[in-house]
Amino acid sequence: MDIPSFTIDSVREGLLARRFSATELATEALRFAETENPKTGAYLHFSPERALAAARRVDEQIARGENAGPLAGVPVAVKDVIVTKGVRTTCGSKLLANYVPPYDATAIIRLERAGGVILGKTNCDEFAMGSSNENSAFGPVRNPLAPDRVSGGSSGGSAAAVAQGTAVVALGSDTGGSVRQPASFCGVVGVTPTYGRVSRYGLTAFASSLDHIGPFARSVKDSATLLGVIAGRDAADSTSASAPVPDYAALLGGNIKGLKLGLPVEYLKDLTGESGELIARGVETLKRLGCEVREISLPSTDYAIACYYIIATAEASSNLARYDGVRYTVRPAHTETLADMYRNTRGENFGAECKRRIMLGTYVLSAGYYDAYYLKAQKVRALIAGDFARAFEEVDAIVAPVSPFPAFKLGEKVDDPVAMYLSDIYTITGSLAGIPCMSVPCGKTVEGLPVGMQVLTRHFDEATMFRIADAFEKAGAV
Ligand code: GLN
Repeated sequence: MDIPSFTIDSVREGLLARRFSATELATEALRFAETENPKTGAYLHFSPERALAAARRVDEQIARGENAGPLAGVPVAVKDVIVTKGVRTTCGSKLLANYVPPYDATAIIRLERAGGVILGKTNCDEFAMGSSNENSAFGPVRNPLAPDRVSGGSSGGSAAAVAQGTAVVALGSDTGGSVRQPASFCGVVGVTPTYGRVSRYGLTAFASSLDHIGPFARSVKDSATLLGVIAGRDAADSTSASAPVPDYAALLGGNIKGLKLGLPVEYLKDLTGESGELIARGVETLKRLGCEVREISLPSTDYAIACYYIIATAEASSNLARYDGVRYTVRPAHTETLADMYRNTRGENFGAECKRRIMLGTYVLSAGYYDAYYLKAQKVRALIAGDFARAFEEVDAIVAPVSPFPAFKLGEKVDDPVAMYLSDIYTITGSLAGIPCMSVPCGKTVEGLPVGMQVLTRHFDEATMFRIADAFEKAGAV
């Protein structure tokens, strides 16, 4: 079995032709992933019992002649911020090193109901805070295409597992770019759906108004299939939307002639080097496919980083307050008072980036500064969303870079948090607006480093986004 070559369709064909059973595939996929994992550190731990139980269910359904679901037998990796009943969920933090959740996230339930086989949980920046996976308490993830470089973050493990071929598809989470940026760095497809499209129930909260669960895959079609499985209203998440979920994968394959695409001037003016050249070439490909490309302006872009790092840290400071040594977490052995217990639990176990954000977030929410920072950031967020709304009166989709540069060297930016924050410049605007956005591979630099192109569309119009990315992928821009 050539595990890295599998797609959702080829797994289904193999199962139905009885070339292998789901149990055989899961066994082999686990063995392969465990052997390959030391090269990248993409997985933190494996879940063989759960994987084999899921595979057995698929085999039984097939034996009974039943439809085993759109993900039947497909090996899946899951970012370790999404809770899995009975399977350790660490969020890349020492605090939760031994936390075994008593319930499943909605996305996990839907994934397994569709026949998906969860092989294990993937490494990530602590509580999804970071752009390089170097903030994980359990070590970084190496880029499978260049082991001295980062895989991106914060969903670096999920991106690396799919790129390495140790999972066919994966789930990540994106608050300001954490699916799109690692997808771009690892040369795979990464999707951030509309805010509310996928239930956040069971996604460990970082910044609740920005958090999304999103798919990784090696093809646009597989990412569309996975989104179709996990999307839709969930009574357990009041912010999940009841908008109907189209069959995204079935809508692919048509031509994209006549679609109007916008290129934001503010994104391209500073994009230099090979990333700039590759995006320019990608845009030429889209023109050849019949799209009408015009420049647009998103004038509030300059304020996006500041706005995001106020809102995200404010929400994070509140969400992370629950890790106090009373519930979930490890607790230091010797504490005299309650205050000591809080202080020691948090002081000893949060990493530097989480502490930095808790302090910043607490500051911007504090009585004297709330209006000056948090409230103002919310107003700027409305301006950014307004920029997109105006652009979408003119164009059907926006095409943009994902990151100002390809995967950087391990250690290159760890000591400079502001430089790290600036790497999110092109992804956080879409997150703040809550619109669907994805990264699709757009070629490689001379050194062989992948570069992703971002496609953004109107709220709940994932279908157009997928159609553009699919046509682009098939045109062989890579
Ligand atoms: N890199 C961004 C941050 O550190 C985005 C993280 C994310 O999307 N989870 O906040």
